Amino acid sequence: MRAAVLYGPRDLRVQAPPTPEPGTGEVLVRVTLAGLCGTDHRIWSGKRAVHYPRVMGHELVGRLTETGERVVIEPNFSCGGCALCREGNRNLCLARTAVGIDVDGTHARRPERDGNEREDHAREVPFEHRVEAHESDLL
Ligand SMILES: [Zn+2]
Ligand SMILES: [Zn+2]
Repeated sequence: MRAAVLYGPRDLRVQAPPTPEPGTGEVLVRVTLAGLCGTDHRIWSGKRAVHYPRVMGHELVGRLTETGERVVIEPNFSCGGCALCREGNRNLCLARTAVGIDVDGTHARRPERDGNEREDHAREVPFEHRVEAHESDLL
């Protein structure tokens, strides 16, 4: 596996960490496309704090390693137990875990045997759906 690991502000290194082992209730996703947005820029530049070292990235298209099924991920895990979660506002959970911020993220992949998979995804998704941009993310 190769991953873009951030060691500090503007200190991004491509490395080969061990492939993670999924825990109970988890699956391993082979990343085929990963997004890059303003949040990633703020993390890389040090404007948004993370614990180092951290694999960045929170947007992906990939395949389950066991079945090959195509998946996308919800990059924020809410706690499910706080008042906001219980009232159905899991997106506002103050105890949420954010992929690429609180835990290692999506800018990692294992080398592919078939290098055409990325292009296959890109052709299937209209361009306007491939870009995530929030006004607050603009530089
Ligand atoms: Zn984003
Ligand atoms: Zn919560």
